Amino acid sequence: MNEHIIIIGAGIAGLTAGIYAKRSGFDVTIVEQHSIAGGMCTSWKRGGYLFEGAMHWMTGSSPETEAHRLWRDTGALSDNVTVLRGDPFRSIEWNGQTVHLYRDIDRTVKALAALSPEDEKPLRRLAKDVKAVTKMTMPIFDIKGVKMKNPKHMGFGFMFKMLPAMPAMMKYGKISCAEFVSAFKHPAIRRLFNFITDDYAATAVVSTLATLHSGDGGYPEGGSLPMVHRMAKTFTGLGGKLMLNTHVKKVNVENGRTAGITTESGTLTADAVIVTRETIAALDKLFDSPPGDAWLQTLRKNTTPAVCTFVSIGVRAELPDCTIPEWELETPITYAGQTLRYLSFYSHREHAPSGGTALTAALMTDTYDFWKKAKDEGRYEAEKQALGEQIVRALCGKYSECEGKIEVVDIATPLTYERYTGAYRGSWMSIMKPGARAGMMYPAYSENINGLYFAGHRMMPPGGLPVALSSGRTAAQLVCRQFDVEFK
Ligand SMILES: Cc1cc2nc3c(=O)[nH]c(=O)nc-3n(C[C@H](O)[C@H](O)[C@H](O)COP(=O)(O)OP(=O)(O)OC[C@H]3O[C@@H](n4cnc5c(N)ncnc54)[C@H](O)[C@@H]3O)c2cc1C
Repeated sequence: MNEHIIIIGAGIAGLTAGIYAKRSGFDVTIVEQHSIAGGMCTSWKRGGYLFEGAMHWMTGSSPETEAHRLWRDTGALSDNVTVLRGDPFRSIEWNGQTVHLYRDIDRTVKALAALSPEDEKPLRRLAKDVKAVTKMTMPIFDIKGVKMKNPKHMGFGFMFKMLPAMPAMMKYGKISCAEFVSAFKHPAIRRLFNFITDDYAATAVVSTLATLHSGDGGYPEGGSLPMVHRMAKTFTGLGGKLMLNTHVKKVNVENGRTAGITTESGTLTADAVIVTRETIAALDKLFDSPPGDAWLQTLRKNTTPAVCTFVSIGVRAELPDCTIPEWELETPITYAGQTLRYLSFYSHREHAPSGGTALTAALMTDTYDFWKKAKDEGRYEAEKQALGEQIVRALCGKYSECEGKIEVVDIATPLTYERYTGAYRGSWMSIMKPGARAGMMYPAYSENINGLYFAGHRMMPPGGLPVALSSGRTAAQLVCRQFDVEFK
């Protein structure tokens, strides 16, 4: 077989698609604009500190899940990779106490009910719902019509397994995270569960709690970059070609079918193209005339992009490892028209020089327009600096051992993510609002342009690593089906 498949982008979706397409016997080239693979799933070094820029919890890190098999197929996980499961998952300070969210929901509920007996009833109900939702692990289905051994399609068995989770999913799918937390009387409980932005459907909180309770949602030791390197090595080890530092200008379409791509240095021909650049930006930038498929228009219309400003701090002081409990700021931080009253960090001592700690915090509001305007008006660096200074002041006010020991302050805005990955508004997931249909995977192929496929986190809201992974595998299956090749 000598069909040539081009994949645009070497993020999780692109690498996964490449690995499965290569295993199935295609000639595969992944074209990536950067000098390294990974896309959003990355980490970076500054002044001796390594900052984890993406993966905080990974669905599929537990061997009990279906996604686990795919992470192993791609080399992301193996017997040699230790998966860390930091516990507590999150903590907050309240009135001189530290209140914890443990992975075990019963342990969390017991501690919170002792803190607030009047919340005991809703807490127990939550524990019951969380346990029901653990039955709902992300399914990995095979597409119809692809040649393969033991294909798995959605059927009664799956529906039956999911049944216990359905009432809880429907209940929490109708309300927002803000409504969910307001059901608790105690302010500390409200704050503890307030770790996903207000406008998401509350299923996001309950699914996360279920993921943690079931033993999933771990962190592969070393984090994003080493994991991506393992995947890239799997791909090139199979004979796949990884073309780095190559920006794709457009997908070439001739007579209703994909002919290949145009890069800065010329054209490359292909029998099929898988686009893993963030889908909305890809439609806007990579086509002379974007495919008019109805599902792509629905995707664009229904997507509310999740966007953040990401703060990384390197401090030569030993702060608590794993997470810094969220505390109330004496002086709120103001930035981009937002007021930040609480602050917490993920913390990694193993990513810092001896005696230091690498801290990161994702400020989860869509401030893209603010940063864009600041850039246009020449205020961008000054605004970043002002935010950095406020955060450092807050940190040193809380942990006096940090005073004079801050060695790195690095701020990535939505514009940084846009520049780095070419994503629409620098977004790396989608917000699932109350009432949105959960578990809906977009078709991922164009009916108007033959041989054109899509993969990436947008293929199923809310997205994230597991969707990038499974959509990459689906795209490889679609290519196999087009050329009547067995999927491996
Ligand atoms: C701060 C942060 C925290 C996160 N935390 C988690 C978490 O805890 N758990 C979780 O599951 N997910 C998390 N995510 C989300 C997750 O990292 C992403 O959803 C996922 O990595 C997206 O992968 P992708 O392959 O779909 O897209 P991308 O990573 O965007 O890959 C697309 C690739 O295409 C390349 N590209 C774009 N345009 C071109 C072009 N014209 N030519 C060539 N190449 C091009 C890009 O450079 C990029 O490498 C987080 C993300 C961030 C930023």
